[in-house]
Amino acid sequence: MNGPPEVAMWIPERPARREHFSAMAMGFAGLCMIRDALERAGIAVGECSSATVNRHKVILCSIQSVPEWFRFSEARAKWPAGDYTVIIGGPAVLNVSPWLHLFDVAVFGRADQIVASVVGAALAGNRLPHPAVLYADEFDPDGAWRIEQTGPYPHDYKLLDGRIVAERTTGCQLGCSFCAYSWHRKHEGGRQSESGVGGDLFGGAEYTMLDGKATDSAAYRGGFTHFGLDGMSERLRHLANKAITRERFREWLAAICGMDRNPGVVRIYCVVGIPTETEADWQEFADDVMAVDEDAGAGPLWGFRLQLNHFRPFPATPAQTWPVELHDYRRTGIPTLRRCFGTAPAAKQAVFTGRRIWVNVDYGVESLPVVLSQAAALRASVDDAPMMRVLAREWPLSGQRATPWVARLAAYAKEYLVGDLPTRYLSTYAAAAGMAKLNAAKVNRYAPALETAVP
Ligand code: SF4
Repeated sequence: MNGPPEVAMWIPERPARREHFSAMAMGFAGLCMIRDALERAGIAVGECSSATVNRHKVILCSIQSVPEWFRFSEARAKWPAGDYTVIIGGPAVLNVSPWLHLFDVAVFGRADQIVASVVGAALAGNRLPHPAVLYADEFDPDGAWRIEQTGPYPHDYKLLDGRIVAERTTGCQLGCSFCAYSWHRKHEGGRQSESGVGGDLFGGAEYTMLDGKATDSAAYRGGFTHFGLDGMSERLRHLANKAITRERFREWLAAICGMDRNPGVVRIYCVVGIPTETEADWQEFADDVMAVDEDAGAGPLWGFRLQLNHFRPFPATPAQTWPVELHDYRRTGIPTLRRCFGTAPAAKQAVFTGRRIWVNVDYGVESLPVVLSQAAALRASVDDAPMMRVLAREWPLSGQRATPWVARLAAYAKEYLVGDLPTRYLSTYAAAAGMAKLNAAKVNRYAPALETAVP
């Protein structure tokens, strides 16, 4: 057949530099899996840019993360008109309420086993009745759609930059209350690490802080290794269903100090702003680090980078109703840690330099306006669509332009009841009653100040 394929993946722009392109290719790993599934079903898939969407009949768009909605909204507004069907999918296709004007069809969850039927129906001018498939003009906030589940994709497949990858696991065995990756993808395959598919794409396994191997020097390959602490204190971690006790954290730190070779830079992901957090929780983190540093035997200085990730609740997780703290950790994170460690300002990101341990805060802590924009993208309703279009035009919020948005978006930071969430239409593999029970048990025990503590 001559002419471009009827179906094309939308690739916004290809960076010129090779390393940037490789990083971008990872972001399109899911879409490349979908291309592979379509081609195995005999449907050819090309690529298009915003300028060329109207050469195809079906456009496949990937929304990998919440900020992608803003970029997609801006790009989509400039697409030429044409007789094409826009199908969206990806991990951040959750709250579609304010974005209905951007697409024709949305697939919730894993699309690899149904995409050929969805695309085939679109090419034939039909619709596929399926609980994971939403046609935008049929949207109803009180409807019912399900996040589709499949196990690891059974074939190797090619990324945009030609790398061949394989998916060995889906989901995570640990089930932290806030984690979309865990609650939206049922765990199958081997044990999961903190870096999701990163283990495959970067070429090696990693471990969670709860794994026995996390204290084994053979597990450290040098370079960067990631671990999720995900809560400044034991109480907050238990609230978030991540059972890392103070003893385990100290044991892990001490084991690294005891390694006979440099483990490289160890990055600790830490969710901050878990509801009811206070400076006492941050003090506990500093106390644990300082205690291990003091007790460690003689030896070289090992480095830890702390990545502060501002908590925001994802739909269809046990923590979906929790509030977002109105703190700007970009401004306050480093001073608070220095106060807790009792250290004076030193090198730009440094918060502690002890005998055996140094701790820096990683660059890239999100500002409050950026966090609130994402909270809004996850919780805005159909009526908020005009405001979200304006927000997309101003994204990414920074400088003076950001200030007025804080008051405007603070409404999405409040604590919700499940029935008031705009994403109440969405269900996942776990029964809603089970998630609510887990949430109530954790909140009642570890954060009774929250409104949802009393079911
Ligand atoms: S936050 Fe990390 S450890 Fe927790 S469920 Fe998600 S992937 Fe697993």
